[in-house]
Amino acid sequence: MKKLRLFTPGPTMVPEDVLLEMARPMEHHRTGWYREMHKELHENLQYLFQTTGTCLTFTGSGTSAMEACIVGCCPPGHKALVIENGKFAERWAKVCETFSIDHTALSIPWGRGAKASDISAALKADPKIDTVVVVHSETSTASVSDVEGIAKVTRERGALLLVDGITAVGAIPLRMDSWGIDTYVTGSQKALMLPPGLAFAAVGDRAWERIDSGKMPVLYNDLKAYRKSLETFDAPYTPAVSLVRGANVVLRGIKERGLESVWSETTTLARATRAAVVALGMKVFATDPVDSVTAICIPEGVDEAALRKTMRSRYGFQVAGGQGELKGNIIRFSHMGYVDAFDTLGVIAALELTLKGQGQSVTLGDGLTAAQAVFAEAAG
Ligand SMILES: *Cc1c(COP(=O)(O)O)cnc(C)c1O
Repeated sequence: MKKLRLFTPGPTMVPEDVLLEMARPMEHHRTGWYREMHKELHENLQYLFQTTGTCLTFTGSGTSAMEACIVGCCPPGHKALVIENGKFAERWAKVCETFSIDHTALSIPWGRGAKASDISAALKADPKIDTVVVVHSETSTASVSDVEGIAKVTRERGALLLVDGITAVGAIPLRMDSWGIDTYVTGSQKALMLPPGLAFAAVGDRAWERIDSGKMPVLYNDLKAYRKSLETFDAPYTPAVSLVRGANVVLRGIKERGLESVWSETTTLARATRAAVVALGMKVFATDPVDSVTAICIPEGVDEAALRKTMRSRYGFQVAGGQGELKGNIIRFSHMGYVDAFDTLGVIAALELTLKGQGQSVTLGDGLTAAQAVFAEAAG
């Protein structure tokens, strides 16, 4: 079988030690063994989110935790502002619709990140808004929002800030407590280099006050039930034991490397990729590019579907296409988790070869040279 390298912004590649840990014999979860493991996981999640708040582990994909936070924090009588700048941002407006949560959606151009000024203008225009929902790293457009600046505005207003950090947490700088974020969410299959199936929500005190003040129709993704179980490091329902095992190995590793070095290594991969894109005469899609994933515009005359197909079948690199209105117009390369400079040089080489194969006038090695210059500079 051909070697496959996953460059999709979720799922991402899983390290061997994590795979081995998850392959160990099943153990029962109503045991001291599980509680010990969950306790360690909780401590390491607090480090990951940079918070002293409650870190809940859900069985489900990232959406489950995000839905739990929106539903829990927006009981009747409250109103949310959802910033829409991509596919995932749109999903959070859909959650509001589904649960009949009073909300207003503010659309900003795809490729741009949300800024503090967007939020303060929207808050000024509607005094009823007391909850703001933003995506830190909008994976569909590969753009970053100024969550730190937005948090200042929401604090001043006394509004809650709920952040989708699904491709931010463990990839780009974030400090939940010192920035003043009320709920922060991520999923296992992005920067945490695990298979899909776990979602994590960090919940601060101000969010808990709101959650405790109301009642919403929710059972499985009930934050209160997860908090109650966490008191004894249990789970309300059968947890994904093997994934939790794997998560502990990953988080121990991240702690050992230090979050700052994880963030700066991710930045280097992103910078190298963007340099290669420019050197190949192509364009980065986002005006506010994020470092966890890069979206590259498909040049005129290039068949996007054929490009991705060749990159996978001939060269073993699985990359992502565009979603929604960006389908056919971009390809996306992940920089999250278990990926290094040489994997990244590989995907750039595969891109060059594939473009050349489609008759594009690229010079083989132009992208690689530009990327290597970034790696050389980062190495000092
Ligand atoms: C992947 C992703 C999601 C969705 O997560 P699922 O795990 O598919 O539920 C939400 N938001 C962002 C920013 C993502 O990248």
